[in-house]
Amino acid sequence: MFLPLTPHSSPLTNQMKCPFCGADDTQVIDSRVSEEGDSVRRRRRCAGCEKRFTTYETAELRLPQVVKQNGSREEFRREKIRTSFMRALNKRPVSTNLVDSAIQHIEQKMLSLGEREVPSRQVGEMVMNELRKLDKVAYIRFASVYRSFEDVEDFRDAIRDLDK
Ligand SMILES: [Zn+2]
Repeated sequence: MFLPLTPHSSPLTNQMKCPFCGADDTQVIDSRVSEEGDSVRRRRRCAGCEKRFTTYETAELRLPQVVKQNGSREEFRREKIRTSFMRALNKRPVSTNLVDSAIQHIEQKMLSLGEREVPSRQVGEMVMNELRKLDKVAYIRFASVYRSFEDVEDFRDAIRDLDK
């Protein structure tokens, strides 16, 4: 999965205090991405005392925990999401590739939230949004279970929403 690292020109990169004299004004004199591409090494120079030091930046790329309605937490599991998709898409003409990329969208969205925990409701909404783009019948199937439709009026509302 491609996630861009913070660009070197970001103003944030200059907000690093000098560990020697505590001055705020340090300059980045060199930046390098590690061989694995998962961290950035920066050489800095303090404008106050002129000492040099190195910082390492790594992005925290952990999927947030999912908080269920009863308050318990569980790992985000791709397989679980896939099961929801397959159930909703049963016998519908949608390719596995499209399902894969929909699941990938959800993972990317989860990562980009930058949260450690995400309510399961929010994950459900993401699944619903992706299904809506893939297949309207599957969307209605999922929504009817997920939002626990109780009567035909709920279905009508959901179908009306689709046309918007
Ligand atoms: Zn200094």
